[in-house]
Formats: sequence, C-alpha cells, structure tokens
Amino acid sequence: MRKIFMALCCVMLLSSLAIAEPLKDRAFFPPVLMYHDIKTEAQNNFDVLVEDFCAQLDWLKEQGYETLSINDFMRYLSQDSFPEKSVLITFDDGYSGIYNYAMPELKKRGMKATFFITSSMIGVLTTTYPHVTAEELKLMAADELFSIGSHTVSHLHLDELSPEERDYELTESKSAIEELIGKKVVAFAYPYGNYDEEIIKAVKDSGYEVAFAVQDKGFCNMSAHFSIPRINMAMDLSDNDLKLFKEYVQNYKNMPEEAFAERWQPISEDE
Ligand SMILES: [Zn+2]
Repeated sequence: MRKIFMALCCVMLLSSLAIAEPLKDRAFFPPVLMYHDIKTEAQNNFDVLVEDFCAQLDWLKEQGYETLSINDFMRYLSQDSFPEKSVLITFDDGYSGIYNYAMPELKKRGMKATFFITSSMIGVLTTTYPHVTAEELKLMAADELFSIGSHTVSHLHLDELSPEERDYELTESKSAIEELIGKKVVAFAYPYGNYDEEIIKAVKDSGYEVAFAVQDKGFCNMSAHFSIPRINMAMDLSDNDLKLFKEYVQNYKNMPEEAFAERWQPISEDE
C-alpha cells in the first residue's frame, strides 16, 4: 500500500511539473551563438573580425548546419525536438557592424539570424561602438532571413531595478521596436545575462515568448523558454583555424559548465 501511495505521489508530482513547464538543460538545445559586433579591426574581446565571421559561417554551411529563425526555434521548442544539426545565430546590443558586415555576409549565404536591440541606442552613432539607425533596422526587419528581438531600453542590470523600472525596460523596448519595424517582437535577451525567477515572470508578463541568457551560468533549467543558454562569441574562438568555435558547436551538448563560465566576461558598462 505504501509503495502504491509513493508511486501515486511520484506520478502526481511529475504531472504537475509537466503542466508547469518541462525543464531543459543545455543538451536539449541547439548551439545558440551570441555575437556582439562584427568589425574590420577588433577593439574588444567581444568583437569578431569580418574574416573570422565569414570563416565561421562557411564552416557551419560546409558541415551542413541549418540556421534557424526565431520562429523556427520556437516551433522546434514546442515540438520538444530540434534538428540534429541546427544553430541559432544571435547578436546583442544592435551595433552598426550587424548592418554593415553581418547582414550582407549572412544574406550572401542564405543564413538566418536574430538581432537583439537596445531600443534607446537605435541611431546613436557617437560612441566607439556606433549603433544601427532606425532605417537600417527597418531594412533588416523586412528581410525574411532576419528576426528582431528586444534587449531592453537602456541595457541596465534588471536585477538592480525597481519593479516599475524593470517593467518599463521590458515593455517600452518591445513596443518601440514593434512600432518601428511593424512586426511583433517575441524574443528577449537579458542584458549581462542577469535574471532570476521574478525577472522571468516579468518577461513573460510583458508578452515575450522566449528569452536568452548568456553562456550557461548554471541556472539554466529555470524555464525551458526563458533561460536559454548561449555561447559567447569572441576573438579567441577563431584562433588556430576556429579550433574553439568548432569545439563549442560540435560538442555543445557535452561541454562542461566551466567551459562556459570561464569564457564569459561581462562587457564594460561604458560600451
Ligand atoms: Zn548586451
């Protein structure tokens, strides 16, 4: 009787978890590449040189990887299975290099990508890292290869804001980008990869359907849709004929957590 009762409890517990949302670890997901800027000369470790970016795209193509749009990604997520060789290419912050270099190289190869935009920085050209203009962003959004997501209004640490400030960052960026591009924004990327359960709830309540983290900081698994890990794309991935890049993509499911944590360094606040 006791055994039956225990078994019954297990079944009830499992079904309640399934209803809440099945948890996933990194091994469930395809590699999600997190780029920042693509440049002809690197100024920071998070820059990727145009020639290295092209070599990475060519290698993915040669190896038979399918690039996913954000809608493809969400469809496979809901089907609970991704194609064996698929990859999601993402860019954070909305720097000019995504329009000048990434977009043409992706288009040339018919490859898809998603761009997470910090809405208050659209058209800001005055820093060492100029950003895309509204017109450029509209052109990108009109191309069926590309999806646009939100990366908040002002790139602050969401866990340091009041609930009102946080909600403004989430909803205002979404509506500003939607108004500009004339399309629904369903994907979000956490600035600095900062999130917790409360932030996840706020992101959901703001109308997003998926949210992307930074690296695999060990607290993936909070939500299959709202804590998706990514690989930090930086200069060192291209050394020795893309040695690390190939390793992360090919061996994504089996890479130890430390391999992700070690490589992640927050980007300086003034960029
Ligand atoms: Zn960012």
